[in-house]
Amino acid sequence: MSAKLELVPPSPIGDRLRAITASLPPQVQLIAISKKIDPSAIRIAYRHGQRHFGESRVQELDQKRAELRDLPDITWHLIGHLQSNKAQRALDLFDWIHSVDSFKLAQRLDRLAEERDRHPKICLQVKLLDDPAKFGWTIEELWQDLPQLITLKHLDIRGIMAIPPLGLSDDDLRTFFGRARQLRDQIRAVHGDALPLPDLSLGMSNDYAIAIEAGATLIRLGRTLFGDRTP
Ligand SMILES: *Cc1c(COP(=O)(O)O)cnc(C)c1O
Repeated sequence: MSAKLELVPPSPIGDRLRAITASLPPQVQLIAISKKIDPSAIRIAYRHGQRHFGESRVQELDQKRAELRDLPDITWHLIGHLQSNKAQRALDLFDWIHSVDSFKLAQRLDRLAEERDRHPKICLQVKLLDDPAKFGWTIEELWQDLPQLITLKHLDIRGIMAIPPLGLSDDDLRTFFGRARQLRDQIRAVHGDALPLPDLSLGMSNDYAIAIEAGATLIRLGRTLFGDRTP
């Protein structure tokens, strides 16, 4: 806790942030997902102490960033699918990329990171259930690519990211998140020296409590913090 002289006015976002943060185990980092949310709301969350924010689209952060330039110590997380032609801009804007979903993209990011002398933190996005709407490695594909992924020295590969399909029951969510945890543990058992994978990026507004039970260390919350997004 730093001594603050600035008076922070109360707000619903601040109240929700405080309640959620107080309920989290210490190993869990809350990422406030600010996609389709106005920069003024990001600023409110910031004033209440939030420093990790996530966006789905490179372009959207590019547009918001100018308005938030005076907030220098935000850690930005990219959580949406990244097209390779935006990889360069993504590296300039984001500290973390949770949505690395193919070896080709990983290789491109590694090369760009090397040119910039950067070591971005990334997660490997895995498709744990067959879901045409989702990007990511299948489990089999990931095992095949792991030996090559380990050779990408400019990527700080932090963990596994997964998004459950819509409409799963709590039990099915438990199974789903448990599979992500199990996959991480198995990879660690085989490749742990090269790839310790400390993080699990799992859990959104509707399911984060279950994700935390399964071992999530990064939770991505939008609506429960900022309210409904404008379509
Ligand atoms: C939008 C989004 C979130 C946040 O979802 P909420 O339901 O608003 O909490 C989390 N992760 C990803 C990948 C998203 O696209």
